Amino acid sequence: MKVNFVDLKAQYDTIRDEVDTAIQGVLDSCAFINSRSFEANFAAYIGAAHCVGVGSGTDALTLSMKGLGLGPGDEVITAANTFIATAEGISLAGATPVFVDCDPETYLIDPGKIEAAITEKTRAIAPVHLYGQPADMDPIMEIARKHDLLVIEDCAQAHGATYKGRKVGTFGHAACFSFYPGKNLGAYGDAGAVCTNDEELAGKIRMYGDHGSAVKYRHDFVGTNSRMDGIQGAVLSVKLRHLDAWSKRRNEVAARYTEGLQDVCVTPRTAVDRYHVWHLYVIQVGNRDELMKHLTDNDIACGIHYPVALPVTPAYAHLGYTAEHFPVACAGADRIVSLPMHADLTDEDVELVIGVVREVAK
Ligand SMILES: *Cc1c(COP(=O)(O)O)cnc(C)c1O
Repeated sequence: MKVNFVDLKAQYDTIRDEVDTAIQGVLDSCAFINSRSFEANFAAYIGAAHCVGVGSGTDALTLSMKGLGLGPGDEVITAANTFIATAEGISLAGATPVFVDCDPETYLIDPGKIEAAITEKTRAIAPVHLYGQPADMDPIMEIARKHDLLVIEDCAQAHGATYKGRKVGTFGHAACFSFYPGKNLGAYGDAGAVCTNDEELAGKIRMYGDHGSAVKYRHDFVGTNSRMDGIQGAVLSVKLRHLDAWSKRRNEVAARYTEGLQDVCVTPRTAVDRYHVWHLYVIQVGNRDELMKHLTDNDIACGIHYPVALPVTPAYAHLGYTAEHFPVACAGADRIVSLPMHADLTDEDVELVIGVVREVAK
């Protein structure tokens, strides 16, 4: 039996009729560009006043930074251990990412290390709700207030996660979502969105994604082309109706993994007051390569998220960071393994994975 890391085919089989009808509706209306009805649905789901659909999560980050006026000479603090797109959003806006190490328990940006990274050039903090677990937003927002910094949340892995009962994407000045197919809420192609309560910012981001224009052929500044396709919005509106049930199933899988594995490896910790949505289930072992080979030999997919911490990845070598400054993220990068995680895993799949991990994990 093969266990997939994500299984978009199995998911499609459970929603085929709804998805096919929604896509047919777009084909019939020929409304191929823009997804205003998904934007309204998603804003309501998150509890944000505005949602602007864009072409990808990376664009959501880049256009948020630009919309907030960040650019050359500005520094934005973010996590050392995240997908490169978080840092790319900062760089593509012309600003400079400043990396901060993570907490060894949660693997989330360590708020206790943020203030030491602040300089007179710091303008913003971009926390990442990594693996589906909300970052520690109370101290992060407190530091931001104290130092007059903007906060741009990277919610690409955490659709529907909550911190003290409140959904991620409602804390910062802007919140960036990815709907890459493999994300918890995934389109059938690339898509992303920015949620914000700031009407002016929402308008600016929308203009950035539409060639600097709010009125046809009047271009107030140089923007780009980054809008959410109609077909993607239609698919996402269907999937949004299922998201909470899928998150619940992910939590069941995670709970069973933890129960079955906590005595043989380091299982992930969820901090108090957080609803984790388990985009990824990441364990730590001393014999990572051996474990991955054993999983692969048994037809169980696995991955590493992420194999190299961003401060020491070639794309950011010019910033001159060294591994000693990021002991947690850099040591963790050699020990982490992500196990299959999606809502269509069966109980048998989960038991199989646990059994195979138990055979070799140390
Ligand atoms: C996926 C992801 C992004 C980028 O999203 P794309 O839609 O692929 O551009 C940004 N940040 C994080 C943490 C991600 O996981």
